[in-house]
Amino acid sequence: MNVQEASLRNAVADKSDEPCILDRSSFPRRTAAVAAAAAAEAEAVDRDARYPKAAFDAARQQRLLGVQIPLAYGGDGASMSDITDMCYTLGRACASTAMIFAMHQTKVACLVRHGTGSAYLENLMRRVAAEQLLLASSTTEGQNGGNIRFSAAAVEHAGTEISLVRNATVISYGAQADGIVTIARRANDAAGSDQVLLAITKDDYTLEPSLAWETLGMRGTCSTGFELKFKGTADQIFPESYDRIHAQTMIPAAHLSWSSAWAGIAAASVERAQAFIRKAARGAGGQMPPGAAHFTAARMSLAKLRAMITSNLDTYLAHEHDERALSSLDFQTQINLLKVEASELAVETVMSAMRACGLSGYRNDGDFSVGRHLRDVLSAPIMINNDRILANIATSSLMSAVPTTLRD
Ligand SMILES: Cc1cc2nc3c(=O)[nH]c(=O)nc-3n(C[C@H](O)[C@H](O)[C@H](O)COP(=O)(O)OP(=O)(O)OC[C@H]3O[C@@H](n4cnc5c(N)ncnc54)[C@H](O)[C@@H]3O)c2cc1C
Repeated sequence: MNVQEASLRNAVADKSDEPCILDRSSFPRRTAAVAAAAAAEAEAVDRDARYPKAAFDAARQQRLLGVQIPLAYGGDGASMSDITDMCYTLGRACASTAMIFAMHQTKVACLVRHGTGSAYLENLMRRVAAEQLLLASSTTEGQNGGNIRFSAAAVEHAGTEISLVRNATVISYGAQADGIVTIARRANDAAGSDQVLLAITKDDYTLEPSLAWETLGMRGTCSTGFELKFKGTADQIFPESYDRIHAQTMIPAAHLSWSSAWAGIAAASVERAQAFIRKAARGAGGQMPPGAAHFTAARMSLAKLRAMITSNLDTYLAHEHDERALSSLDFQTQINLLKVEASELAVETVMSAMRACGLSGYRNDGDFSVGRHLRDVLSAPIMINNDRILANIATSSLMSAVPTTLRD
């Protein structure tokens, strides 16, 4: 055990009721503890559109915020497979908690993959693990919608000092985050697509609220609009250009973890539908209620959704360290289509679950209500709009070959 691992074990032992063993086998137990806290406040979080504080207090106590940071920097070295499992488990408990966790882990993935070699970013990795910092994401800007590959705001340079003013339309949990990972134009004279990624912490920026978050679902993500003003140093810019980070990490990590969170929401609705159908069948002396076919449909689309996520995850893990493969047309098309298909299937699953439960599912109260799940999951197709993604990949889809065998 090296010094860092030893000090982390001690830190864990100090902060939780029972000491955590820092290997993969502890992940399910630690995630379950966070999920329990998230489930207990899920209704209140949704009703009051408030940040899921108890869930994230538990996530800090279980040291899940730094779980993806490599052991050498004080984390647990969790893989994307571990992270997606966690997102699914949290999604079954509270959609907002799962989505916040997924967004945070996407930013951490960028730090882990593209931060080594930069003293500032390496130190930030250590801080995420040691202080359990929560990182938010700022990509959406002004009237630009989900066009992430274009930035309006530019980094201003004055020697080694830099600054940025950004009209951030949406920053989920911006008010609660300890730092933000944001895109920007490289400099004043750079094109909108010539972007860099910056990691900034709350001691070097201010957020002036500009737009409230009063929405149908995902209310606990508290995705308020802000004017972001930052002053810092040039070493806060990731050394690699954003286009590479986007293809290799941002998109795969976001689409895999978001999809897993949505699949968790879908699974929770299927569980409710199952309980409803079982109760109805018991009450009718074993005779299936008419809605049973919708329950079967919900199970079927959930199975498709899970299979699609795991197959994309396997592809990603197989090529994780192969820059060329990750940047290839085929992989980029596939990982973008994952987001589109997973979001549609998640909505379809929750809709089938609600139809299985009928009025009991449509109600906002009672054990079989799936209203919250439906409202939350409806955010999936618009979170980077599916229409935009499909339009963007139309050309590459045309160029990549149609497979000639079942497994190639
Ligand atoms: C729950 C949630 C949390 C979020 N958190 C964050 C966050 O933390 N940080 C952040 O930066 N952003 C966040 N976002 C914003 C998100 O990343 C997208 O930017 C946003 O969902 C896009 O918003 P839009 O629909 O207004 O924009 P657009 O993408 O511009 O879409 C607007 C409309 O135009 C249509 N459209 C757009 N382009 C095309 C096209 N090429 N072809 C056909 N139709 C098109 C769409 O169908 C849609 O109807 C969050 C969004 C959600 C739902």
